[in-house]
Amino acid sequence: MLIAGNWKMYKGPAEAADFCLRLRDTELEGVDVVVCPPFVSLAVAVQLLAGTEIAVAAQNVHWEVEGAYTGEVSAPMLRELGVYGAIVGHSERRQYFGESDETTATRARSALAAGLCVIARVGETEEERERGETENVLRRQVAFLEADDNLVVAYEPVWAIGTGKTATPEIAQEAHGFLKSLLDVPILYGGSVKPENAAELLSQPAVDGALVGGASLELDSFVAICRTAASL
Ligand code: PEP
Repeated sequence: MLIAGNWKMYKGPAEAADFCLRLRDTELEGVDVVVCPPFVSLAVAVQLLAGTEIAVAAQNVHWEVEGAYTGEVSAPMLRELGVYGAIVGHSERRQYFGESDETTATRARSALAAGLCVIARVGETEEERERGETENVLRRQVAFLEADDNLVVAYEPVWAIGTGKTATPEIAQEAHGFLKSLLDVPILYGGSVKPENAAELLSQPAVDGALVGGASLELDSFVAICRTAASL
């Protein structure tokens, strides 16, 4: 079971350091834990979590090794920092920064080639679900990805991210089962995962962990979710 905390654009280096110092003193056994700070806080997180089992991943990664791509960061740069992986294709990247299935796949491919682990996010919008298009959308998004030992997919329905609306365990199980029939990789659920709903979601057989946004920002709620995962 893998629990990844996506801090989004929260926690600069000082706050990240405070969180990591407390996280590293927390007993966490039987679960793989990843934190995903903003770029500027990666170095301090890597440094403070060195020697623990907790990994640090970026929230995005560019497909080129270097070049004229203002504002972007490459996989070898992240590797040099000691970063373990990266999220690609987050719905907020798709919504606000023009990320597409193609750019998501290109980022994933380059990151994997550079030796990073990748969490590739997929998921339908509310309108797509209402129109009965969920499976078509997931099929299209996953078609751009290739199975890899270092690839994990995160199923995050857009309507559940940061909205407080969570997929029912049945919806999550159905979507994960469908995704697994297309691509044989671990699938995380994401979308308003909290300590109160973690057990029912994580106990679904096709749910291999969670990508947690808001509830990963507070140590207590993040640790509670990690411990729930460890207990299952
Ligand atoms: C996310 O950022 O990937 C996410 C799922 O956010 P939240 O848990 O806040 O819905």
